[in-house]
Amino acid sequence: MKKYDYLIVGAGLFGASFARIMSERGKKCLVIEKRDGLGGNIATENIEGITVHKYGAHIFHTDDKRVWTFVNRFAEFNNFVNSPIANYKGKLYSLPFNMYTFYGLWGCKTPDEARKIIAEQREKHGVASAEPQNLEEKALSMVGEDVYKTLIKGYTEKQWGRDCKLLPPFIIGRLPLRFTFDNNYFNDRYQGIPIGGYTSMIERMLDDGNIEVRTGADYFDDRATLDAVAATTLYTGAVDRFFDYKYGELEYRSLRFETETLDVPDYQGNAVVNYTEFDVPYTRIIEHKHFDKTQRSDKTVITREYPKSYSAGCEPYYPVNDEKNNALYAKYAELANKSNVLFGGRLAGYKYYDMDDTVAAVFELTDKL
Ligand code: FAD
Ligand code: UDP
Repeated sequence: MKKYDYLIVGAGLFGASFARIMSERGKKCLVIEKRDGLGGNIATENIEGITVHKYGAHIFHTDDKRVWTFVNRFAEFNNFVNSPIANYKGKLYSLPFNMYTFYGLWGCKTPDEARKIIAEQREKHGVASAEPQNLEEKALSMVGEDVYKTLIKGYTEKQWGRDCKLLPPFIIGRLPLRFTFDNNYFNDRYQGIPIGGYTSMIERMLDDGNIEVRTGADYFDDRATLDAVAATTLYTGAVDRFFDYKYGELEYRSLRFETETLDVPDYQGNAVVNYTEFDVPYTRIIEHKHFDKTQRSDKTVITREYPKSYSAGCEPYYPVNDEKNNALYAKYAELANKSNVLFGGRLAGYKYYDMDDTVAAVFELTDKL
């Protein structure tokens, strides 16, 4: 008899949700986390009475009622609606691409006027009918040249460290395009931020009196002993690391966060301002207090987000899902499928998962189990 049913490697959203669901089914779970705190990349901390998102802004949004009901068991969500602003050469534009953006760019006041301008620009670039082969073609066919040059090209090329012609189209497929006056960055039915932060939400998820949690514990420091204590291991770390980089390393894009406390009550008047020019070295500035209007402080905390290339020792943030890396991942996925270990989450799946996708993937796995 093993002491635990599950050894869960990683206390991010995937590992914590899995542990809670299986624990409620009477399974004994041990969660180990190599970082000192819980939550993985959604972790938050308190600075000057303000909840600070440690690894980039995280806004929960979903259309999936089951996911929304689940996370609401562990946190009270506020009614935050993400409406980022773009700063291009000192002029401000509304995001996502909507009538406020088109009014700011061209002064047009009706959807018909905006559609006409975009259609003309599409025709000019010959991208009106052909299937887009890269991100540049996709952007031009979606919103035309002006929006592409002002709001997409510079931001995307610094974010991904390569020319838009060399990037896959799906990256900007995430951004809504609307011909209404609506600055909501997401189309989902449910949206919000947990009051008190994501770390408290994860702590509550793991605190059912039965789940054992160890932080500062790296699986690879004691792999054989750890595997031996549980009937099954669920691994949510990097899949190439799990197999000792047998086929080579998967590529990522990394980020550097520069966080500052300022002695002013309000720095930029909005939670997120994107800097869409290539020459500004950061992609966005986040002002954390605006994620929750109930936070009162005479000070403010801001974070500048700098894209950077990935090398050993950096945090892997965005998988580079191009053909080469997807093919490499497929080889690791084959090994994973053949092993008796369970794999889950953004690092093991080498996929950009939003938080709701992450919880939905946990449901898929636990339903199957
Ligand atoms: P992780 O959070 O990475 O958790 C994995 C955990 O495993 C980590 O804590 C890690 O330390 C631990 N671990 C790894 N290896 C080991 C080991 N060997 N031993 C022990 N522990 C180990 N989603 C949204 O829905 N809305 C947003 O606004 C949003 N913003 C984002 C912004 C940025 C900059 C990024 C990069 C992502 C964003 N996301 C957002 C996505 C969100 O971060 C993910 O959906 C979520 O973090 C995935 O959780 P996870 O558990 O799979 O991964
Ligand atoms: N993007 C852009 N301009 C912006 C914001 C986003 O061109 O002002 C593009 C960019 O390529 C980015 C992608 O859209 O990688 C997805 O944006 P999102 O805000 O979803 O990125 P994330 O928050 O995941 O970094």
